[in-house]
Amino acid sequence: MSTGELCIEGLRAGIPGREILKGLTLTVRSGEVHAVMGPNGSGKSTLAHVLMGRPGYEILDGSVTLDGIDLLSLPTWQRARAGLFLGMQHPIEVPGVSLVDSLTAARPSIPSGELGASDNGIATRLHEEARRIGFDERFLDRSLNVDLSGGERKRNETLQLGVLRPRFAILDEIDSGLDVDALGAVGRRVQEATKEWDLGVLAITHFRRLLDVLHPDVVHVLSDGRVVATGGSDLAEIVDRSGYAAYS
Ligand code: ADP
Ligand code: MG
Repeated sequence: MSTGELCIEGLRAGIPGREILKGLTLTVRSGEVHAVMGPNGSGKSTLAHVLMGRPGYEILDGSVTLDGIDLLSLPTWQRARAGLFLGMQHPIEVPGVSLVDSLTAARPSIPSGELGASDNGIATRLHEEARRIGFDERFLDRSLNVDLSGGERKRNETLQLGVLRPRFAILDEIDSGLDVDALGAVGRRVQEATKEWDLGVLAITHFRRLLDVLHPDVVHVLSDGRVVATGGSDLAEIVDRSGYAAYS
């Protein structure tokens, strides 16, 4: 079990010549689920990319720390090693690299002692996790995301989360492309992770559907790069009923 916090303070960031995040502050503690909702183009994916250090974005102001470690000064792989994980909105295909290869490369981010000495630890956990979310185990030997459907790719992200067991996960529309059964399985898996190893979650989503399974402690509404409302799960219901117009 771990305790800690992912702390975003006054974050302003964008692409050259355009500010997209205009001063964003929120703190996720270990074991908590925070939902970030917001209309298309409000900056949700930009937030995910900036947190993970995707090239092409500029930081204009503010800070992001994980247990006091300044993430913004670190390259992406060190952010991962510090315990941050990103489930991408659009997972990419990586021909020639299997899931096991990729997870083995990421293995140093797994707390020592949790897995056996060999890569078998990863393969075993991968199969366990696949069964938990109903991911076809025949896909595990394929190149990463190659020839997988959108929904299978999203489940693949969840699978990696389950194997790597990061401290904090940013899930960018992990629900998009999932059918209702897969959505339930993925949502439940993430919810269980908040208990199993105190995972802290920043769940970006348009829809309340995910939040019926993955219960948020806090809901934030993002509009034009700012948090314009923060509340409990009732806020997700209000947004679901009335849309975002009241917050823009
Ligand atoms: P969301 O995920 O909330 O739909 P995004 O963060 O993807 O929104 O995008 C916010 C705004 O910033 C959009 O207008 C988008 O077109 C723009 N944007 C984001 N990333 C880039 C980029 N790399 N190049 C150009 N525009 C971008
Ligand atoms: Mg997005």
